[in-house]
Amino acid sequence: MSSTASFTADRSSLPPEGQALKLLVVEDSKTYSLALCRRLEAEIGLPLVTCRSLNELHAAVTENRAAYTLAVVDLNLPDAPSGEAIDFTVQRGIPTIVHTGSFDIATRNRIMQRDVIDYVPKDSEFALETLVTAIKRALSNRQVRILVVDDTLSTRRLLTRMLKIQQYAVTEAASGAEALRLLESHPDIRLVVSDFNMPDMDGYTLTRHIRRRFGADRLRIIGVSSSNDRMVSVGFLKAGANDFIFMPFVPEELQCRIASNAETLAQLEQLHNLASRDALTGLFNRRHFFAQATPLIESARRQGLASAVALLDIDDFKRLNDSHGHDGGDKALACVARCLARSIDGRGHLLARIGGEEFAILFPGLDMRAAMRLSDHIRLDVSHETLPLGEQEATLTISIGVAGIGPQDSLDQALVAADRALYAAKNEGRNRVRAA
Ligand code: GH3
Ligand code: MG
Ligand code: MG
Repeated sequence: MSSTASFTADRSSLPPEGQALKLLVVEDSKTYSLALCRRLEAEIGLPLVTCRSLNELHAAVTENRAAYTLAVVDLNLPDAPSGEAIDFTVQRGIPTIVHTGSFDIATRNRIMQRDVIDYVPKDSEFALETLVTAIKRALSNRQVRILVVDDTLSTRRLLTRMLKIQQYAVTEAASGAEALRLLESHPDIRLVVSDFNMPDMDGYTLTRHIRRRFGADRLRIIGVSSSNDRMVSVGFLKAGANDFIFMPFVPEELQCRIASNAETLAQLEQLHNLASRDALTGLFNRRHFFAQATPLIESARRQGLASAVALLDIDDFKRLNDSHGHDGGDKALACVARCLARSIDGRGHLLARIGGEEFAILFPGLDMRAAMRLSDHIRLDVSHETLPLGEQEATLTISIGVAGIGPQDSLDQALVAADRALYAAKNEGRNRVRAA
């Protein structure tokens, strides 16, 4: 991870995306190894292989080459006193986190000459906690894509290499214009690390352009520069960047600042989910439905398309609650929700739980005929579902009212009409779909 070390790791032995993840723990202390493995099994739940010496590590990696996602390696082992175990895992392209009993600046420098993700001294009561956090972070970094923007190839490559060691997915841009293009075509980019001096636009201008399109809850921006002018960081922050790092980089500083921004994004996403999802079923809630529905209807309208909305209500749900208790009712609700989600999966419809046992689906861009057909499929899917309730199995049906949303109609008007149609479906015997 040192900025001067050459990149010798054989990354071709990393498991391809989608392959099962597996962790390697190399530690001679039986007590420490056991404590760590217990925590990892409980909190991460990935398969683990443990080794107590360099010899055992050789055997484990040779037998199982290319299978390890991450190794946690003790710096000092009885048969590897100078970090030979770290050299071994790094050279085989196994992303490595080091933990060490002895720690001083010389040890730090020795570790940082290697391309390791992080090091954790075992010098405090929080050591195990810190190590588990570092492992979790390295695993979740695999899901975070960072855009590196720098016109100087050598700096861009250095940054990319350092970020890849941290397990991030990285995309590179050689100019501000290319960065803006890539942000449009790669919606999975969550973080931008941008240089200040670039021929086509400087870092402030790029930051301002990005901020017009993406808020800080969606995309984090970190400025970098080798300038001696302290005001460069001020300019970046005032333009809307979230952080700034002076070059030449101290690897740990880069790592901590990027990780803290990635963590903030994850926390914001979690908050957003809490605010827009229903806790029992995991579906969108009423608030999210009403916030999203009108923009979706408007967007379909701009393409000249009508939309439709369906209200769904579980039939005789009170009876199920009475016979299986409230907990049984809750399980049934979650099961119906899963079935609804499966039925409309990935087709741009907006499904939400808008009341106790009431759901709504907005079909943006679908006419009444298509919406009625789809609603009947959904009704049938639910009626075929069996709900495991304790020793027994139950079945449920739903009634659905559907209303079209024409060019002049508001969502509220359509919902009133759909509710009337739902009432008619109930009166006519339930387990049916009625149009407004
Ligand atoms: P209908 O076929 O006419 O819809 O009859 P119903 O029994 O479903 O009647 P109604 O819609 O009036 O009753 C819904 C019941 O759903 C009332 C309430 O106790 C129950 N319910 C609402 N929210 C929840 C929930 O979160 N969990 C559980 N277990 N029950 C709920
Ligand atoms: Mg009801
Ligand atoms: Mg009901």
